[in-house]
Amino acid sequence: MNLLVVGSVAYDAIETPFGKTDKILGGAGTFISLSASYAGATPLTVSVVGGDFEEKYLKMLESHNVDIEGIQIKKDEKTFFWSGKYHNDMNSRDTLVTELNSLETFDPIVPESYKNAKYLMLGNLAPTVQRKVIEQMTTRPELIIMDTMNFWMDIMLDELLKTISMVDVLSINDEEARQLSGEYSLKKAAKKIHAMGPKFVIIKKGEHGALLFNDEKVFYAPALPLEEVFDPTGAGDTFAGGFAGYLAQKGDVSFENMKNAVIFGSAMASFCVEKFGTERIQNLGKEEINERVFEFVELVKFDYKPNK
Ligand code: AMP
Repeated sequence: MNLLVVGSVAYDAIETPFGKTDKILGGAGTFISLSASYAGATPLTVSVVGGDFEEKYLKMLESHNVDIEGIQIKKDEKTFFWSGKYHNDMNSRDTLVTELNSLETFDPIVPESYKNAKYLMLGNLAPTVQRKVIEQMTTRPELIIMDTMNFWMDIMLDELLKTISMVDVLSINDEEARQLSGEYSLKKAAKKIHAMGPKFVIIKKGEHGALLFNDEKVFYAPALPLEEVFDPTGAGDTFAGGFAGYLAQKGDVSFENMKNAVIFGSAMASFCVEKFGTERIQNLGKEEINERVFEFVELVKFDYKPNK
């Protein structure tokens, strides 16, 4: 049930209507791996950081059963840095700074022991880098899940389409699904994305939940109405990590089990937004995760009886 994760491990600086942070731990790979670990998976993270990356963060990842063998440390370079500012609605944000630093020349190296991993989660990175990881696998993983963003659609669509054609699950947000497909209807968009290769398409709708498509079948997971939304950074990655970790742990990639995985991922994302960065998902207990998942179950459970 080993899970290989590739994604950025970063420093972020975040500003929301509720406050501002200095450089804190971030990166898609960080959120994905941490989240997957709560599903009981032992994710191996392939990434790169600079000499300025604090040892305590690597230790923290290890304490969550994240295997860090695949994280390269480039002593003479700096860690990828991203800074963003959220608008008052917390749904939209502006990227203020992207310093690629060590990520600019990132050449992912999959450790030998993970070249036959059954599950592969490709976090949002250049599609060429994502493909390099797929190409290093000695056996084709049972499931390849990929996240991406509009940035790659704008600057390297051909490369992106090539990588998309190699994966089983594509996870993107509604705006990106519309851009990629040219369709406004998300159902039509999913159909077009299926035709690009992925058998499963997840369309994330932020505070309005997520849709899972598999040909004619569709499943909807709501987002939990929360009293406190502090910082949405990494919610999508945390969702994807929970989804991938759950599937890897269960070893079942049926559509039925994917529904559970989508709910687990949504529950993990609901924790993520409650505090800045990874703070909330660094300190979670099994009990509160289970309770949160059952809140989702309650949210959508009903017993409809048609009139006679
Ligand atoms: P999300 O909120 O799901 O879009 O993910 C936010 C995380 O993605 C932050 O922690 C950033 O460090 C990371 N990130 C932002 N831009 C990039 C990029 N161009 N490449 C890789 N990771 C990025």
